[in-house]
Amino acid sequence: MGVPFARPDCSGNELEYVREVLESGWLTTGAKAREFEERFADAINSTHALAVNSCTAALHLACEAVGVGPGSRVVVPSLTFTATAEVVRYLGGEVILADVDPATGLLTPEILEELLGRHPDVDAVMPVHFAGRAVRMRSTADGKGLLDICAPSGIHVIEDAAHAFPSRYECGEREMVGSLNGTTTCFSFYANKTMTTGEGGMIVTRDDEVAERAKRMRLHGIDRDAWNRFTTASNRWEYDVVAAGFKYNLTDVAAAIGLAQLERAEEFRDRRSAVVSMYRKKLASLAGVTIPPMPDREDSHSWHLFCIQIDERAGVERNDLIDLMHEAGIGTSVHYKPLHRMSYWSTQCDVDAALFPGAERWWAGCLSLPLFTTMTEQDVDEVCSGLRNAIESRATVS
Ligand SMILES: *Cc1c(COP(=O)(O)O)cnc(C)c1O
Repeated sequence: MGVPFARPDCSGNELEYVREVLESGWLTTGAKAREFEERFADAINSTHALAVNSCTAALHLACEAVGVGPGSRVVVPSLTFTATAEVVRYLGGEVILADVDPATGLLTPEILEELLGRHPDVDAVMPVHFAGRAVRMRSTADGKGLLDICAPSGIHVIEDAAHAFPSRYECGEREMVGSLNGTTTCFSFYANKTMTTGEGGMIVTRDDEVAERAKRMRLHGIDRDAWNRFTTASNRWEYDVVAAGFKYNLTDVAAAIGLAQLERAEEFRDRRSAVVSMYRKKLASLAGVTIPPMPDREDSHSWHLFCIQIDERAGVERNDLIDLMHEAGIGTSVHYKPLHRMSYWSTQCDVDAALFPGAERWWAGCLSLPLFTTMTEQDVDEVCSGLRNAIESRATVS
């Protein structure tokens, strides 16, 4: 009994591919990492994919490559993990927190436009495809896209797609998240994400210069990567250092896990989506619970998270619900306590709660329910009855 909040699924070719790497004698970045990058670029339909050891590293490299530095101003939605914003501080830039739509948790082009009215000197924007649903990047029937606002003003766009593989934009040809021109997109392969390498990440871009810079900076600012260094016939020992780079490369051991996960990415998405459908049916009539709005099409959501909203009609506070469900053996989580409520960010940014009505509303009632690929209908039933019992137990007390 009991249902964890998340559980990785490594029941495919993971062991076999990792064994190949261990037996090959080459454990760090090499042929497997390169193959992983090629396959990932194909899956996204973009030109450059660079494997790194976390999404945080990817975000840092992407910001560095577009020139974020001291004096730069970068917009980050308040409803995100601190990693999105912290990389701006690594580089000495200033973070400007933005509000989000209280229905989806997403930064919208309308919110950005309003914010740019107050801060006309913004250098970059980091939209977060929260939970796995894409921010409106290009214009649709719903209005202008984020890129339509940023591109004419020369504002760089770095997408935090830690939740959004595989997912599609709802604009134009319904391209994969990460495939658009004019942006750099960062993915996470952390253990609880939609696909994993244990720890890992990927930078995807169509911009040759950004790719070149990020490639150098992920490995000490060396002009050739370690693999080339040992395999080029002439001058096999020689390399040059052109910048003070970082140590962000992904190992072949991790890439082997990634290749096996990638083979099942569509299957994983379909399973997560099926679990969400079960939740939607079983929770439809529960008073005080709002289920998240669906995208137009099933494949435009990777369903990293299933976040419901709890309101007064439930008769129980969100935090008490978490405790009650924990007692029943059910793992839940909160995504996120907004950055404007965090002590560090309150020393760095304008965090007046009046600036964040959407994020405040989201935060007051959000509750993330268990969602993983091996969840059974029984698991979903257990979560739903756990939630129902917790709500009803309080309703009878009061
Ligand atoms: C997980 C996550 C990150 C960081 O990913 P790592 O791979 O753990 O560095 C960044 N942004 C968001 C929104 C995340 O959920």
